[in-house]
Amino acid sequence: MNLLNTLVDKGLRRELPTRDEALAVLATSDDELLDVVAAAGRVRRQWFGRRVKLNYLVNLKSGLCPEDCSYCSQRLGSKAGILKYTWLKPDQAAEAAGAGVAGGAKRVCLVASGRGPTDRDVDRVSKTIEAIKEQHEGVEVCACLGLLSDGQAELLRAAGADAYNHNLNTSEATYGDITTTHTYADRVETVRHAQSAGLSACSGLIAGMGESDADLVDVVFALRELDPDSVPVNFLIPFEGTPLAEEWNLTPQRCLRILAMVRFVCPDVEVRIAGGREVHLRSMQPLALHLANSIFLGDYLTSEGQAGKADLDMIADAGFEVEGAGTVTLPEHRADAVAGGCGSRGGGCAPCGEGASETAAEARTAQAPAGTRTAQAAPGDARTDLVAVRRRGAGTDLAPNA
Ligand code: SF4
Repeated sequence: MNLLNTLVDKGLRRELPTRDEALAVLATSDDELLDVVAAAGRVRRQWFGRRVKLNYLVNLKSGLCPEDCSYCSQRLGSKAGILKYTWLKPDQAAEAAGAGVAGGAKRVCLVASGRGPTDRDVDRVSKTIEAIKEQHEGVEVCACLGLLSDGQAELLRAAGADAYNHNLNTSEATYGDITTTHTYADRVETVRHAQSAGLSACSGLIAGMGESDADLVDVVFALRELDPDSVPVNFLIPFEGTPLAEEWNLTPQRCLRILAMVRFVCPDVEVRIAGGREVHLRSMQPLALHLANSIFLGDYLTSEGQAGKADLDMIADAGFEVEGAGTVTLPEHRADAVAGGCGSRGGGCAPCGEGASETAAEARTAQAPAGTRTAQAAPGDARTDLVAVRRRGAGTDLAPNA
């Protein structure tokens, strides 16, 4: 298939595909799917071998957000029955992080609901970062606190943060349909703040919110231009009690095509399968490891993931290996750029977007109709049976899943 040969050649050279080529990946048939996975898998192996980086989420503050992100169970007016709690103390967060590190995670992602942190919040997160770094030598810490004000990225960097997450989530054209309380431009600005403070930028998307193929290509091309070091790809879990509760648009095949497209457009970047992995990829998860080089271990912010041990077994069974703490994730040319400061490279959670789509669906019993806003994805039945609210780990007395 000429398209795939071209895309592999470009990926191996770190050359940007055309928009038409990216769209063509999303339009491939099921007959072509294994060829698409194999082609994108060649690009993935060129830059990341067979390594899988594990990341671990610690939800520092859950629920009660004043923002209105439609996909999020923590949004203003959400009826979702998620855990709600205010800031974890530094030692509580360090203990939660420790479970992930013990399970093999090399990055801990500290997430808090809300529009953005106050300076006092930045101070408390700084103390948390210091506690984690003290107790878990060598662990990478990424903060995900929403929109940053001037100077806050620098304070987090000074406290030892390695990275900052703030997702673009969807295309600029459709952003206003998803959220009205902040703008796409606000998000871009926060990612740039993080980069210019020397933080490694993590910024990704949420698929399955009713967007078109063109929207997906738009947001991935925008990410390529923004040049984050990691790109989380979330698959919307339509959470009962949120406006997108009926958007069950994704199939495992569609998720694989999306991941392949992201890999071709961002060949040498850490592509992370984020929220919705278990719900939408289901038994196709191991195939997705040929496309992404990074996943979250265990639970998400407000929803459960599969057992941490099942994640580790899946990686081993599929012939991949967990990336060790001593291994640099990024290819040499990108790792050098990070060491020199991300601001040098031209070129972010929803305020916790990554968690937001992760936060999907609580009701195990309610049946929602298939999504209706897209024609290009083959909608399946609502699978609310696959989704459960997180009831263990941070914010509870129960042991975490890691
Ligand atoms: S994604 Fe973040 S900012 Fe948006 S509603 Fe959820 S917690 Fe609030």
